[in-house]
Amino acid sequence: MGLVMATILATDGHSVEATLPSEPSWQEAMKRAIRSGHDLCKRLAIAPALSSSQAEADFPVFVPLEYVNRMRKGDPDDPLLRQVASSHDETLRSDVALLDPVGDLAAQLGGGVLQKYERRVLLITTGACAVHCRYCFRRHFPYETAPKGKTGWSRSLRLIEQDRSIDEVILSGGDPLTLADESLSWLIRQIGAIGHVQRIRIHTRVPVVIPQRVCESLLKWVRESAKPLFFVMHFNHAQEIDHSVAKSLRALVSAGATVLNQAVLLRGINDSVEAQKQLCLKLINLQVLPYYLHQLDLVQGALHYQVTDQAGAKIVEALRAQLPGYGVPKLVRELAGQQSKTPL
Ligand SMILES: *Cc1c(COP(=O)(O)O)cnc(C)c1O
Ligand code: SF4
Repeated sequence: MGLVMATILATDGHSVEATLPSEPSWQEAMKRAIRSGHDLCKRLAIAPALSSSQAEADFPVFVPLEYVNRMRKGDPDDPLLRQVASSHDETLRSDVALLDPVGDLAAQLGGGVLQKYERRVLLITTGACAVHCRYCFRRHFPYETAPKGKTGWSRSLRLIEQDRSIDEVILSGGDPLTLADESLSWLIRQIGAIGHVQRIRIHTRVPVVIPQRVCESLLKWVRESAKPLFFVMHFNHAQEIDHSVAKSLRALVSAGATVLNQAVLLRGINDSVEAQKQLCLKLINLQVLPYYLHQLDLVQGALHYQVTDQAGAKIVEALRAQLPGYGVPKLVRELAGQQSKTPL
């Protein structure tokens, strides 16, 4: 951790020179992230029996300390911990679970471009994420085949340029905000220069786990984007939003971005009216609009997080009675081969 000299006021009103710990850069935060269930449990004073090395061999644990610091010590049921700690349940195999539950593979146009819906294309920019969520539907996606860097993206950009029906480009992954700002700023400029593209969207969870990712060099390309920028965050629980996360969300809104949130309904984590209500309230108070509440994609290794459609519908109905209309997310499921996400 870097140290900075700072002038602080002593209690007697005199200023003194002091050495304060400074916040690590987001790149530094990625480097020092926790990479095993064992270390995660140790840090939180929880018995390591919670984690499973068999599950981690398939999908490694990756959790930044900034996120771990928002977890409750000694509580194996902590809603943040439960999203990222490996478990024996992941090794159970089921007939209903698939490796590609949402039909991503069938939707590939080439060059890392996926198109499932009219007017919108999704660009797989990278396979990297800043956190590994155990329920992730892309945990089996063949990222090796996605384009890498400017040369790879140039091919994707040509595909978008050639199809005038495309008016929105969605940067996804992996997580686009794990890329350097230099690359992102280039990509946003290239996409922004395509006449028929009207909007650019970025799906990300990096600011949730490493809020300092919303740094000055990111805000610069956000402010300078030629086309309206939408960020779709991925918060699942109110406890994920602390002071520094709130500060980052405010900075994005001030820079002119529209910020939305999509959550995944997860058993034992946020499958209650109270948990969803607290999340939605915290979001709208920060001008972040709850967009989707996703039903879990039935991916191999994640079925223990499943909540029934009836239970999900009941939660959203209760939210509708208690929150303003713009504060209620749409409950949806993504089904392969449909024209949009399927409302429930
Ligand atoms: C979810 C998704 C979109 C965006 O859908 P919206 O309903 O517009 O949010 C676009 N492309 C793909 C491949 C998707 O999975
Ligand atoms: S950040 Fe998103 S893509 Fe990455 S593991 Fe989590 S849910 Fe999956």
